[in-house]
Amino acid sequence: MQVLAVTPEIFPLIKTGGLADVTGALPVALAKQGVATKTLVPGYPQVLKAVETSAPLHQYPAMHGGKATIFAASSAGLDLLVLDAPHLFDRPGGPYGDSIGADWPDNWRRFSALSFAGADIAAGAIAKYRPDVVHAHDWQAALTLAYMRYGPAAGTPSVMTVHNLAFQGRFGAGIFGELGLPAAAMSLDGVEYYGGVGYLKAGLQAAWAITTVSPTYAQEIRSPAFGMGLDGLVSLRAADLHGIVNGIDTAIWDPQTDIHLRAKYSQKTLKNRAANRKVVEERFRLVHDDSPLFCVVSRLTWQKGIDILVAALDDIVATGARIAVLGSGDAALEGALLAGAARHVGRVGIIIGYDEELSHLMQAGCDAILIPSRFEPCGLTQLYGLRYGCVPVVARTGGLADTVIDANEAALSAGVATGFQFDPESSDALLDAVKRAIAVHTDRAAWSTMQRQGMKADVSWDRSAAKYIELYRSLVARRTA
Ligand code: ADP
Repeated sequence: MQVLAVTPEIFPLIKTGGLADVTGALPVALAKQGVATKTLVPGYPQVLKAVETSAPLHQYPAMHGGKATIFAASSAGLDLLVLDAPHLFDRPGGPYGDSIGADWPDNWRRFSALSFAGADIAAGAIAKYRPDVVHAHDWQAALTLAYMRYGPAAGTPSVMTVHNLAFQGRFGAGIFGELGLPAAAMSLDGVEYYGGVGYLKAGLQAAWAITTVSPTYAQEIRSPAFGMGLDGLVSLRAADLHGIVNGIDTAIWDPQTDIHLRAKYSQKTLKNRAANRKVVEERFRLVHDDSPLFCVVSRLTWQKGIDILVAALDDIVATGARIAVLGSGDAALEGALLAGAARHVGRVGIIIGYDEELSHLMQAGCDAILIPSRFEPCGLTQLYGLRYGCVPVVARTGGLADTVIDANEAALSAGVATGFQFDPESSDALLDAVKRAIAVHTDRAAWSTMQRQGMKADVSWDRSAAKYIELYRSLVARRTA
């Protein structure tokens, strides 16, 4: 089986969040089970720098106003197809915006180009290659499925994976004329969305199957509270909607071999975590003592509930705990956390920025990771936490609810608890969960039992990859039926 994945991000080449981790790890897990993936990605500078350019496989003399080329490349065990279109992708900054984070005004053009190329490849644009299934990730790739539906690849099975329904790719109706879709596509069952054009909406409409990254989130997005305006469509397509929880790359995230750690460790040598904790204390300028050390590794946004954390910060510090926060995002939230660190010198530390290595060290040295998200399609940091013995304290929503076993009395006495859940998403509930965590932490034997229980959990891609394969097979069977 041959899968063509289309994505705007892929680890380790270009990453802004969990999407990249997924598109980087899933092909490797699928390959182990006999499914080959080629992944189409934009030729951002970060991608072109990391791969060797090869002979062009397909060329466009004029794609949205410039020349574009598809070439093959491989990197980190990934089989890539790169869409090199300098006028669209050769820019400084991130994949979606400039260095201060403002979205590029022509993102609609950039990701329509990516999607157009994806649909072309599905239709046979590259010699001797016909994917059995096309798998589009998030709104940036979603239009692939619309181009397929209204073009020669309409008979090729397709999957739309929603990593976060909050990001939809909505644009004005004025762009429609430049997308190269037939007039019939500007309709309720096509790309039209509240009078404009909706990329994710179009993908949800056209996909043979829809997946999202946890069973709970798959349920949640059928309701107005989580559906972000798409709950009606998602509900209509409920029969084709699947929740498949993400795994993590257990080769990169392995405390026994992780090159980023000061001290490697296993379930049997948890005491080695102390050396990593010391580095975290130094980097965050925290006092060195025996009190519980909580961490946060996150985009600093409303979705992630960082305002909930800010409101609980003083009370958390009053329990005697310390907190290290790594992240970047909303200026107001960054400011509030910096102010918290200034109020609690040595007990609250914040580093604004993105630091992959430090994120590994934090998971390897801190006692617990706080994830107070308002919604969380899957969440990866709790999975890293489980694998590293950094006990997750999470809001009971989406993938967080599906992957962490709350330490209620029954779970504790049965020895199966792996973390703490709280509900509703409020500062009081977060504080209660932190206090529950601290109570268990004071019983060192109970705490290490919980750490080991988390470390034993299967957070690999194996089971989830098997579920994707089952889905791909069912779609291919539908094609030939
Ligand atoms: P989302 O994709 O919504 O941001 P996830 O939990 O699914 O959230 O994935 C976030 C990913 O980004 C994880 O791999 C996490 O470790 C990483 N990450 C988030 N913020 C930072 C940061 N400031 N520095 C390093 N890694 C970060």
